[in-house]
Order: sequence, then structure tokens, then C-alpha cells
Amino acid sequence: MVIGGGIAGTAAALALHKAGFEVTVHEAHPDTGADIGAFLTLASNGMHALAQLDAAAPVADLGFPITGMSVIDETGARLAAIPLGEHERPLTRYRCLRRADLGAALQDEVRRRGIRIRHAARLTTVTESATGATATFADGSSASADLIVGADGLHSAVRAQLDPAATGPDYAGQRVFYGYTTAYDFTAHDFTTDELTADATPPPDAQDRITMVRGSGAALGYLVSPAGETFWFARVAGPALTAQEITGTTPRQWRDQLLPLLRPDRTPAADIVAATGDRLMATNALHLRPGNRWHSRRIVLIGDAAHAASPATGQGASMALEDAVVLAKALRDADTPGAALDSYEQHRRPRAERNLTVSAQLTASRTTEGDQAPGSTAPQARDSERPAARLDEELLQLLDWDAELPRTPRPA
Ligand SMILES: Cc1cc2nc3c(=O)[nH]c(=O)nc-3n(C[C@H](O)[C@H](O)[C@H](O)COP(=O)(O)OP(=O)(O)OC[C@H]3O[C@@H](n4cnc5c(N)ncnc54)[C@H](O)[C@@H]3O)c2cc1C
Repeated sequence: MVIGGGIAGTAAALALHKAGFEVTVHEAHPDTGADIGAFLTLASNGMHALAQLDAAAPVADLGFPITGMSVIDETGARLAAIPLGEHERPLTRYRCLRRADLGAALQDEVRRRGIRIRHAARLTTVTESATGATATFADGSSASADLIVGADGLHSAVRAQLDPAATGPDYAGQRVFYGYTTAYDFTAHDFTTDELTADATPPPDAQDRITMVRGSGAALGYLVSPAGETFWFARVAGPALTAQEITGTTPRQWRDQLLPLLRPDRTPAADIVAATGDRLMATNALHLRPGNRWHSRRIVLIGDAAHAASPATGQGASMALEDAVVLAKALRDADTPGAALDSYEQHRRPRAERNLTVSAQLTASRTTEGDQAPGSTAPQARDSERPAARLDEELLQLLDWDAELPRTPRPA
């Protein structure tokens, strides 16, 4: 039984079904899922994990691919222009897509394969015995299974009961703004100077690239879709937004907060924000601390429920997809559920918590200096700090559906 029909939960359902298990997904939301309207970037490792579940193609139909990243400073000077991930192959390219579209596509795929999703099923309690676990829902119903997979996200109810001592999620130190605009004309911006276009690499504002602006007052990343729509996000250090601020602040008020931070710089950031109308929202960057409990005998956590990271590395969704593949392989191949859950945790915790720690460090740096394109690496981040944007051999073996899990867990 999977609790949560988000990215981790749907992927886990696909993976467990592929491994031969009977699965039901219980999702709290009455229709597709909870969402704040933001977009995300799926990195090559996430797309590769989806490919192991034969689910990369429906996702590759969504959004648009990103093959490179440019980084500019507050003067508009380009600091780096680098290829992103496995850009050579269409199915493992980074993709920018709306989070709600990804969730809906994965739920469609789950249903298409005959896996049941029960909506409006909000888990309230879980209990377990030596042979199974039982979930009780807010509507008074209950269901039992051999195993409960807690994929119920950042504020996981399963985590709260599996590990009552676990704290968080905590505020990571940055407010995150998201916006979409069709009114920003990137072709007209004088940012495309000779200095930036003189070499063979495409200009930073070309389509299929993400541009990271390391501004003096805020970090802003933007992408231009093939339809000419600019997707952008900004991260700003400061105290946490209150719930009332998040719901009660108008897009115009958010713009008024952001623009003074962006205007002093010679970059497109302020013009992009100024050109954004009502499709502008803000939230707090939240994260868990490493070290919480991941599983008991018959209950296991995946995705944000286990290791929610702040958005700086842009790897949350991709890590959730990796979890799903590894958990299903472990359950498929191990002799007992206990051995499978131990193996899953050994293989996943170092990598997932490394991402959590790096993202927290970048977020807490309070400058735009360490900022990263989603899922990729800041040029000045040390190699040892880089989440894998390219797929190394160990990761490929870990995710390879047809291969057994390695006996020795991969290093972080
Ligand atoms: C604004 C924002 C931007 C992000 N940008 C990126 C990015 O660029 N790249 C990236 O890789 N990641 C990004 N992330 C992170 C990414 O969205 C998460 O890591 C990913 O969604 C985790 O998937 P999940 O399934 O674990 O959790 P979720 O997607 O949150 O899904 C959890 C599901 O569980 C359901 N649920 C919750 N409680 C219960 C309950 N009690 N009972 C039943 N169901 C329940 C919810 O309704 C939801 O459908 C971003 C996150 C945010 C908030």
C-alpha cells in the first residue's frame, strides 16, 4: 500500500507493480494532488529512473527539454556555460515542466496499468505487526497490506508516526518565488552582448537553456519555453514567510518586494519579474534534517517523506524517482521484507542525505554565490559536493531494472 499519490508514490506504484506486487495508492487530495502551481526541473537521473519503469516517454511529452546552463553575475558577465546532464539522448534530457502536469501524467500512467488510486484518502494513523501494517484514514476507513510505503511528502503523517522524535520540516532560510510570463521579450534584451555570443556556445537566453543570475540581492533562474513563455524562480534570504503572508500577499506586492533587489543589477532579472502578471507566487524553502528513521518492519518512507531537501539543488523529484526504483528492486530481490528495507535504506540514505546537506549549505549561504541550476552544479562547488547530474556507472547499476542491487552500497 502506497500512501501519497505524488511523484514518489506514483513512481513507487509503477515500480512495485512492475516487480509483481499488487499495489493500491491512497492519496489525500480529492483529484490529482496538492500543488502550489510551481514548475520543476527533472534531472537526467530522474528521467533515467522513469525510463526503468517504462514511464519516461509520457513525461518527455510534457514541458520542454533543457540541455545547458549559463551562469551570469550581477554585471551580466557570463561566469559559465555548461551542458546539463545526459543531454545527448532525448529521454534522459533535463526537462522543465509544471509540477502538477508531472503528477497528473504519472497518475494517468498508474491508472493505465490497472493500479488503483483511491482519492480523498487522507491517512491519519498507521500500525504494524510482524506480518503487515494497517492504515486508518480521516474518513474512518482502514486498509491493511503486507507493507506500507509512506510517500506522503514533506509533512508526512507516516513519518510522524514512524519516528515521533523526528523534528521538522524546518525553514531552510530562503523564500522562493515562482512566476510565468509571456510578456518578457528576451530577444529584445540588450543582455545578448558580443561578449556573450562571441564563442561557439549558445547565448544564455537561448531556448533549451536555463540561465542562473547571481544577482547582488537575489538569485534568479529563468528558462524560455519553445512557446516563448518565460518560467522563472527567485530565491531570497530572509525570515520565513508566515502562512498569512503566503496566502494573503498579492502578485503585485510580491513584485514590489522583489524588484528593489533586482533593479541595481545589469541583468534581465528585474525586467522578467516586472513583466510577470498574476502568475507569481511565493513559498518558504523547507527541509528535513538528516538522520530521521526511514523504516520499521513493515513501514518505509520514500521521497520527501524520508529526505525532503530545500530546492537549491533541484533534485527532490529525481531523488524520489530513484527511491521508487531502488525500493522495488530491493523488495523484488531480497528474501524477506526486513532485508529488503535494510538494503533500500543502505543504498539510498547516503546519496539522498548528501543532496539534503548540499542543498542546505547552498541555501544557508545567504548569497547567490552557491546557487545552482535545478539538479546541476554551481561552477565553484567542489566536485565532492556535486549531486550527480551525469549518470555514473554505479548509479546506472543501482537503477538498472534488470540488474540486482549491488552488494555494497554506493558511496554518497
Ligand atoms: C516550490 C517547489 C519547487 C520545487 N522544484 C523542484 C525542482 O526544480 N526539481 C526537483 O527535482 N524537485 C523540486 N521540488 C521538490 C519536489 O517537488 C519534491 O521533492 C517532490 O515533489 C517529492 O515528491 P513526493 O512524492 O515525495 O512528495 P509530493 O510530491 O509532495 O507528494 C506527496 C503526496 O502525498 C499526499 N499526501 C500528503 N499527506 C497525505 C496523507 N496524510 N494521506 C494521503 N496522502 C497524503 C499529497 O497530497 C501529495 O500528493 C520542488 C518543490 C517545491 C515545493
